[in-house]
Order: sequence, then structure tokens, then C-alpha cells
Amino acid sequence: MAICEDCQQEMNTAEGCSADALILNDQRYARFRMRTDDGPRRCGDCRASSGGYHHLGCDMERCPRCRRQLISCGCVQAEDEDGEDTETLVAVVGDTVVYPAALRGLRISSDPTKPWG
Ligand SMILES: [Zn+2]
Ligand SMILES: [Zn+2]
Ligand SMILES: [Zn+2]
Repeated sequence: MAICEDCQQEMNTAEGCSADALILNDQRYARFRMRTDDGPRRCGDCRASSGGYHHLGCDMERCPRCRRQLISCGCVQAEDEDGEDTETLVAVVGDTVVYPAALRGLRISSDPTKPWG
């Protein structure tokens, strides 16, 4: 049993995560769907099935902003006023935040260039 904290689904049986977009640096980006044209039908890391979305934090997720590996591309990091690195990643289902937990349930604007309204 492994339950995704963000979509609350059992990762071994869910089609994929329900979060369909990410907000990086105040811009909304649609996530890439899992593609396994030749490989196994489920992601080896987060168990999302082909055509679904990876669960957040998956090694295999590509960044929708720069197309590199999301966990290492740097797009989710930003410097705050004190020069400290902070994570700016926000995940949404439609217009409702599911990650981070502190913002869960918050509604965002549907304007992709101004997700915070
Ligand atoms: Zn999930
Ligand atoms: Zn995955
Ligand atoms: Zn990136």
C-alpha cells in the first residue's frame, strides 16, 4: 500500500495522479502525461499507468517548463528575500490546489498567466 498524499489514491492501482497542472514561478503549466510506448505499462517509480500523470515527486516526471527532470531541473527552486532557496512548486487539479498541503483547497484563477488572480 502506498497512498499518494496529493491525490489520496493508492498508487499501485490508480491510473495516475489527479493533479493535472503545475504552477512554477507564478505561471501555470499543463503536466506531461506518462508515455510508455515501448516500456512497461506502469511507471517504475510512482506506478502511474501509461496515459496518466506521475504522482508528485516522481523521478520520472519531466518539467513542463524546461522539459528536463523535474526533481533536478531547478525550476521549482526560487530565492526568497533572504537569498534562501525555497520551493515554489504548486500542483493543482483544475483550479484547486492539492500541493503543498498548506495551500490545499485554495482556488486559483483560470488565467494561465496569472494563476493567483
Ligand atoms: Zn497522486
Ligand atoms: Zn512516475
Ligand atoms: Zn524545469
